[in-house]
Amino acid sequence: LELTDLNTLADEYLRLSYQGIRTKDRSFTAQLQTDYDPALPPVLIVPQDIGRVLLNLLNNAFYAVQQKARLAENGFIPTIAVCTRHTATYVRLTIRDNGPGIPPAVQDKIFQPFFTTKPTGQGTGLGLSISYDIITNGHGGQLSVDSQPDVYTEFSLQIPLPVS
Ligand code: ADP
Ligand code: MG
Repeated sequence: LELTDLNTLADEYLRLSYQGIRTKDRSFTAQLQTDYDPALPPVLIVPQDIGRVLLNLLNNAFYAVQQKARLAENGFIPTIAVCTRHTATYVRLTIRDNGPGIPPAVQDKIFQPFFTTKPTGQGTGLGLSISYDIITNGHGGQLSVDSQPDVYTEFSLQIPLPVS
């Protein structure tokens, strides 16, 4: 476990994920919005594990807006927003995209291993189940989803602060 600044870690993975998508699709651009809590306390985490969670959530978000960009009319601006906040007991990080969203019936299944709506070869369906395990069992935190189909999807993770 390492005391880690989640703002720095999130920003690194945001840029890494965006670059990864753009390497495969040069014409793809997205608007990145960041709103980092300037007083965010450091969290005690396994940075590689939380990095894996961030990468999966961000890759899913970029994939979602890329899909919508292919179908949408001109004027759609793919947007990924990362936000951090804290309370006395935990730190929260949210990743929001303006992609196609997730219908309620699908939301019920996305954390199950091997559940995917991606074409064969494009998704293993393991990312969210592994992420859920890392956040809950691995760090005593919470991972949740909120979505309005056609409007947005937002994943929110909470990590408890070390007790002093
Ligand atoms: P995979 O990415 O391999 O499909 P995940 O476990 O990461 O597996 O995600 C499972 C499913 O959850 C995806 O196939 C997709 O249907 C849905 N999903 C995840 N993130 C998003 C998102 N940001 N927008 C829309 N659907 C999403
Ligand atoms: Mg995934």
